[in-house]
Amino acid sequence: MSWLPRDYAALWHPFTQADEWEKQPENLVIERGEGVFLSDTDGRRYLDGTASLWCNVLGHRHPRIDAAVRGQLERIAHTTMLGLSHPGVIEHAERLTALCGLDRVFYSDSGSTAVEVALKMAFQAKQQLGETQRTRFVALTEAYHGDTVGSVSLGGIELFHGIYRPLLFEALRIPSPERAEPAEEAVCLSAAGDLFAAHGSELVALVVEPLVQGAAGMRRHSPAFLGALVALARARGVFVVVDEVATGFGRLGTMFAIEQAGIKPDFLCLAKAITGGYLPLAATLTTETIYDAFRGPYTAYRTFFHGHTYTGNPLAIAAANATLDAYAEEKVLERLPARAEALGVALRGLNHPCIKEVRHFGMMGAILLAAGDGRAFPADARTGHRVSLAARRHGAIVRNLGDTVMVMPPLVMEPAQSQQLAEAIGSAIVDVLGPAER
Ligand SMILES: *Cc1c(COP(=O)(O)O)cnc(C)c1O
Repeated sequence: MSWLPRDYAALWHPFTQADEWEKQPENLVIERGEGVFLSDTDGRRYLDGTASLWCNVLGHRHPRIDAAVRGQLERIAHTTMLGLSHPGVIEHAERLTALCGLDRVFYSDSGSTAVEVALKMAFQAKQQLGETQRTRFVALTEAYHGDTVGSVSLGGIELFHGIYRPLLFEALRIPSPERAEPAEEAVCLSAAGDLFAAHGSELVALVVEPLVQGAAGMRRHSPAFLGALVALARARGVFVVVDEVATGFGRLGTMFAIEQAGIKPDFLCLAKAITGGYLPLAATLTTETIYDAFRGPYTAYRTFFHGHTYTGNPLAIAAANATLDAYAEEKVLERLPARAEALGVALRGLNHPCIKEVRHFGMMGAILLAAGDGRAFPADARTGHRVSLAARRHGAIVRNLGDTVMVMPPLVMEPAQSQQLAEAIGSAIVDVLGPAER
């Protein structure tokens, strides 16, 4: 029997409606990858336009990362971080703290847990510093910080998070800008000012995706806006948690987005690209000051009682160290501007009356679709979804968020491949919505 019927009988896919999945003729079973391409079980090749969900930055079967993981397998696959250490993780923590300008690294397994860890640490730190009245968090509207209950509490995407509200802690909200325009940013900042004035003394932390809210369809704010938010938080003694799970490791042109705003957070959350997209690993970085708030005799019970079984897994750490080697030795960031520019040119070159807006920043793009008169398509038309599926016929794998087609290729995608990717999306739009001219 072929793979898909067996899939339909046994699997539950994330963020996927079963009624659609089980009927889609476009479903693929991916068996191999090479560079920026994926191959299915029928041997057809596709451009990986989602970087395998935003994490594969250096291409599949990267020789350096492959070799590092194989090498680690010769030594040990897993040992716990609870009460033990290993050489790879020590080396990686030294490198990461040097890169980020923070002092301590706590490892976990996914972006969601990196944020979960930051919010528990921040809360406990405030409690142990004697600021026990601080029990609340503030996040942006349309925020996405992951899918565990704590990170969902910080999330502000009604479609994903609404049903869970009765289960969640209530976060305060600052309205987020959509296009980094000065006028909208001024309105949002003024609301933020009012909020910090009214609630500053109750707040543990401000949690923010820096510069781009990816899962909201690439909403943007300026480095100055981010800097101003951070200043407001600092002035009220509120910690700053920056979630660079999507933006970290070069996605927006610099190693980390915080470099562009010149800010130093109290907590920095990293995941997705940290292993080059090879294995699940996440890091929550923080300062020595916060680490010190957890010191004391055991019976003061100031320990951070949190840890996952596979925290700091040696195979994942080997991939993460090799990823850092690759960034340094393969000049990934140095070569990024030309590649990012080419992606922008390719996406902006698309021309169709149903393309309402093209967003592009670094190696990240979004194509917003709407009816020719500018109105949203009805939700049940599933336009964005159908466009994503149609792109497969043209040799590209992309994903949509509603009627926004997200474009998140590996950072090593060459200009000609970005052009090919954009053309595949353009052809898919024509397949679903008809030709550009009539
Ligand atoms: C993907 C993402 C997360 C969640 O990461 P997972 O590894 O999927 O749990 C959190 N924050 C941001 C900004 C993300 O893009």
